Amino acid sequence: MIRENIDRVEERICAACRRAGRDRSEVSLICVTKTKPVEMLQEAYDAGQRDFGENKVQEICRKKPELPADIRWHMIGHLQRNKVRQLIGQAVMIHSVDSLRLAETISAEALRAGIRIPVLIEVNMAGEESKFGVAPEEVQELIRAAAQLEGIKISGLMTIAPYTEDPETNRPYFAGLRELAVDIGQKCIDNVSMSVLSMGMTGDFEVAIEEGATHIRVGTGIFGERIYMKE
Ligand SMILES: *Cc1c(COP(=O)(O)O)cnc(C)c1O
Repeated sequence: MIRENIDRVEERICAACRRAGRDRSEVSLICVTKTKPVEMLQEAYDAGQRDFGENKVQEICRKKPELPADIRWHMIGHLQRNKVRQLIGQAVMIHSVDSLRLAETISAEALRAGIRIPVLIEVNMAGEESKFGVAPEEVQELIRAAAQLEGIKISGLMTIAPYTEDPETNRPYFAGLRELAVDIGQKCIDNVSMSVLSMGMTGDFEVAIEEGATHIRVGTGIFGERIYMKE
């Protein structure tokens, strides 16, 4: 079932790339595996997937030893500073940096581990109260400050668009994130690249691809609906 779902998502990705005149290789699919058992992750792996996204540090740490070592784990959820130490060395990229304090902690822990970790700045494009992320007008200031930190490499921007039945309503947010990345890229700040745009989920990834996404994060479309249990 998972293989078929991935095929269907893959067709949608290819169609969106064609419409946008983009090459399929410009878009990375991150399989969002939160709440799903390792057996399902293994199925996605067997179908060729290597980029997996989780929103909890504990879940990455628990699943990673049970699965092949060449999986690239992406931290896509809100990150508490007291969990950063555990995460360093486990994730290839942190998509959800939304404060200087968090960036400082990540940098310090990465340096301590002798690595430099790519991070994205999470932007709350729609200004939703319920969402994390910095306001668009605060992004540049955060990036200029965080660019000084030697344990991180600022690699781009991420956004979680509002839940919607009509993906077209999210197009302005995706286009806005891209424009923000272009603006900041033109400032040529040391230690900052704007090459990654992490945007688009099951309901709206085609629109995100049309607007320049380099990384889409797809859960439900691959693994089905999530059931949240009490912990
Ligand atoms: C859960 C989640 C996704 C995947 O959402 P779907 O609608 O299931 O595709 C993408 N990004 C983030 C940050 C998430 O937490």
